[in-house]
Amino acid sequence: MQKVLQDGFGRKIEYLRVSVTDRCDLRCRYCLPKDFHGFDARAEWLGFDEIERLVAAFARLGATRVRLTGGEPLTRRGIVQLVGQLARLPGVQDLSLSTNATQMARLAMPLRRAGVNRINVSLDTLDRGRFKALTGRDALPDVLAGLAAARVAGFAPLKINMVILADTQDDEIDTMVAYCREQGFVLRLIEAMPIGQAGRQAGRVDIQPVIVRLRSKFQLVDGLASGGGPARYLVSGDGRFSLGFITAMSRHFCDTCNRVRLTAAGRLLLCLGDDASVDLRALLRQGVDDARIEAEIRAAIATKPQRHEFTASPDRIVRVMSRTGG
Ligand code: SAM
Repeated sequence: MQKVLQDGFGRKIEYLRVSVTDRCDLRCRYCLPKDFHGFDARAEWLGFDEIERLVAAFARLGATRVRLTGGEPLTRRGIVQLVGQLARLPGVQDLSLSTNATQMARLAMPLRRAGVNRINVSLDTLDRGRFKALTGRDALPDVLAGLAAARVAGFAPLKINMVILADTQDDEIDTMVAYCREQGFVLRLIEAMPIGQAGRQAGRVDIQPVIVRLRSKFQLVDGLASGGGPARYLVSGDGRFSLGFITAMSRHFCDTCNRVRLTAAGRLLLCLGDDASVDLRALLRQGVDDARIEAEIRAAIATKPQRHEFTASPDRIVRVMSRTGG
């Protein structure tokens, strides 16, 4: 019988996001400050066998979905090998990856063959100058080549995540909607969250008016909730284009939260908007057995906060997003 991992509020925790590095080859201004020096020493990171052991424990407890993230997961050397190790684990039914796609042109096919079944690509603008200003690198052509390679490798549907900042212009959103509709990509608009100082500088965003505007401009209708995730969807009349909204700030969805996060250094974070964490790496390195790891995971999950504190105390989360595993 399938086991169920439940928190103290009766929510089923079936989704583990695993950060495989806190480094990134971009410096998105709302995520990782240019002058940030607080990276983990590489020796702090979990090794592949340690990640495998923890993911296996989560899978035995009932987690079925695993997403690799970071930092930029494709910058972790050997990422394709790690995918292979995790894809083989009993109970892992869905292995996905979040990436900025700068290196996807090279890695799409190997990742697909190794067992990644879904990819989300973060892309905030299709304007090359603005991309460079936002991320610190003139890498939009690499990202577009990465998207093309991901399509050829058979990743479908491809989801594009666009973070909406206080100064994101309507025409940029419209250009992205038109592009994703034409390319057959699912687009999700994400309200910037006050994670770390960089996140707070993004400004307070409420995309509810954007939802109303896009619904009318692109003649979209309510879509079905998909896959137990936080996005709410609008779809085109012919059903071929989906537009999702992740509204952590204007309309939180904590009551349906089904996920926890493992940092690159092996801390289990119970909520994106709360700093409480449990050091699973320390346990692993003490040489404890699997039963003890499972017991500690269960105990940690039981303490998952009811909801994030972004709106009540936006200054609370000081860690940067790339250390969190976004
Ligand atoms: N490098 C990978 C990528 O680009 O998808 C994975 C890590 S990145 C931290 C994951 C996601 O978090 C990206 O979509 C990024 O835009 C988003 N993100 C980072 N900081 C954020 C913030 N302050 N508010 C909302 N989303 C944020």
